Amino acid sequence: MNHTEAGNVDHDEISRFEALAARWWDLGGEMAALHHINPPRMRYIQQRAGGPTASIKGKRVLDVGCGGGILTEALALAGADATGIDLADASIIVARQHAADSGITARYEVIGAEDLADDAPESFDLVCCLEMLEHVPDPAQTIEAIARLVKPGGDVVFSTINRNPKSYALMIVAAEMVAKIVPRGTHDYAKFIRPSELDRWARDAGLVPQDVTGLRYNPLLKSASLNASDLDVNYLMHCRKPA
Ligand code: SAH
Repeated sequence: MNHTEAGNVDHDEISRFEALAARWWDLGGEMAALHHINPPRMRYIQQRAGGPTASIKGKRVLDVGCGGGILTEALALAGADATGIDLADASIIVARQHAADSGITARYEVIGAEDLADDAPESFDLVCCLEMLEHVPDPAQTIEAIARLVKPGGDVVFSTINRNPKSYALMIVAAEMVAKIVPRGTHDYAKFIRPSELDRWARDAGLVPQDVTGLRYNPLLKSASLNASDLDVNYLMHCRKPA
């Protein structure tokens, strides 16, 4: 079955990202915040999934909902055998072109996580799915597919946005309406995900949560840092699939 046809995709979301595809690598554009948060996200991934040496060199890594490849390229530069997937064709075209222009080797495909899990189960040492779950209709289904994609004993790193009055105030009111850091309509408050919900969906899919860490972002300073005790807005979760 083609799961994409079966429907775990919001076509308005994909269209919104396609319309912005030319801006993925514009450091002053709509995607700038993703560039600013990328270094601490990478540190987290390397620390959690890189073993004692914090190195993902040589690992087969999948980036689900990769967009223009901001994270995928960083994974490849860290020595991973990196693949990025997304359902927005225009973003995958931009990702391929940017990697070629930068001399970076990464594979990019237009395919959903569910379909890739049918084609290539248990193929990846590490699967990353950052800032994507809050854009899909059924995040539990995406998480289930990711659990099938990762090898036994492998790692998964998710990131998303918590759902509470503070995240509404910062992500919707401040970021979209006042400061216009991201385009209006980028985020839907109802689709934000509490850490307890992500924990439950991960466990239901057979993954074992290992850690949750907050990611604080200061748009004025354009800086971001990991903060273990502040899960109020953006946060990352590391899970492992039992061996
Ligand atoms: N993960 C990237 C991009 C986040 S933006 C980063 O953090 O830098 C969210 C991305 O999810 C967009 O590229 C969008 O096209 C993609 N997306 C949304 N719904 C999707 C779906 N159902 N399947 C695959 N990708 C999806």
